[in-house]
Amino acid sequence: MAEGSSATTRKGAEGLFERVESLVEVAMLLPHGMSDEEVEGLLRVLPPDTSRSMRALLCPRFRDVSLDFIKMLGGWVQELRRAKEEGRKVVLIPFNFPPEVVYIFRNAIPLTSEVMTTLGVSVLEGQGERYWDHAMGLGIPDYLCSSSTIELGSILTGRDFQPDIIVQSAPGACDANSKIHEFVSLHMGIPQVILEKPTEATSRGRELHRRYFLALIRRLEEMIGEELDEERMRGVLEEANRASDLYYELYDLRKFSPCPVPNIFSIFTYGTRFTRWGRPQATEMMRRMVELSRRRREEGAYPADEEVARCMWLYIGYYFDFLGFFNWMEERGITYLNDILSLCQPLHVDTTSRESMLAGLAEACFEYPMTRQIGGDSMSLSWIEEMCQFIRDLDANCAIYSGHHACKQTWSIINQVRREITKRTGTPVLCLQGDSWIRRMTPTSVLQEEISSFVDNVVARRKRTRARA
Ligand code: SF4
Repeated sequence: MAEGSSATTRKGAEGLFERVESLVEVAMLLPHGMSDEEVEGLLRVLPPDTSRSMRALLCPRFRDVSLDFIKMLGGWVQELRRAKEEGRKVVLIPFNFPPEVVYIFRNAIPLTSEVMTTLGVSVLEGQGERYWDHAMGLGIPDYLCSSSTIELGSILTGRDFQPDIIVQSAPGACDANSKIHEFVSLHMGIPQVILEKPTEATSRGRELHRRYFLALIRRLEEMIGEELDEERMRGVLEEANRASDLYYELYDLRKFSPCPVPNIFSIFTYGTRFTRWGRPQATEMMRRMVELSRRRREEGAYPADEEVARCMWLYIGYYFDFLGFFNWMEERGITYLNDILSLCQPLHVDTTSRESMLAGLAEACFEYPMTRQIGGDSMSLSWIEEMCQFIRDLDANCAIYSGHHACKQTWSIINQVRREITKRTGTPVLCLQGDSWIRRMTPTSVLQEEISSFVDNVVARRKRTRARA
């Protein structure tokens, strides 16, 4: 079937958002408890790329939780559309900005660039290639991050769903991310508001950041046309705290071996954290993941004969082939413990007063994934220390760096990070190369070969040697 002509794609829809919107309309109708035959029938009528992702998601081991995830994200996409029609403000945020900061406003809703990119790459026929190519055609350099440039490439066509406000929160952490959001703001005439992070993690740096954050809130109040209401804030943040409790329960479940948490739940975790935190839908999604993982632990359920590798992904993973990545690893006994995005470690916000809530939100921005490592006062030290701590805590026996194409800052220090992690924890580290959202860079088969040979020749061999000793 030709790209974009799927039976499930809204007639005339060309933008990434609109095409995803058409698909979720149908996907949200899928009921719980589908049989394998029903799933097979469905997969046969879908275009190949969509069918492959849906096959991964509808794997019987976690089918119903995947359906909950699809419904949660589908509901978010539909609410974005409704908000636009009702005149509420759609606020485009990058994935290093907490969505609950937008939800504390009644008249605003967050649209997370990178989650929309990941949705497009994972469910659309032709993935996000046409939007990336459009951005490249405008002369945007290919070292900007595909995580945001794919969705923003679609916005830049001027023929897709448009946000009303852009929050830029990567200055000080990632220029690639910051510049593409700024470019879209200037090119499309969408007002932007900037949150800068001082690199100093001292009390002086935090105080300065808090002032920047309060200025951002005042600016958002003006742009959205709404004064913050303390009760609304409290409601959102109490809900976020409930989701955070469940997040830590899921984190603890990953400590068991074999790991009872399916690999794909790492992407479900940050898909939830980056879109719905502070809303009951996020809490419910976290609860569903915890319940299934708890049940799997009680039953000792694990898809392979043995858990060979407990793998910490040092930065991010790959999102263009769920089946060949998350499911494939799990079925070979390779556990995807976490990566920096799923290690979002949400903070509990003190909801006593307006001041305590704003201070808690500022702190959440300061400690957000990607910001706290790459925007740390020493990028290498923040990253090394954090990863060593997680490797020990989750008892990982290997680590992998995905070598995401755009991430020049992490590339610049990976040798040092790799050496230190191995020295401090004894964990071997594999460095891959490839783009996390573009399959054309390094295909899945090559990544699988490298992961297999690392696990077979290094991880499994060390395990055997230790067992003999
Ligand atoms: S993954 Fe790397 S390049 Fe992309 S936004 Fe994050 S820090 Fe920037």
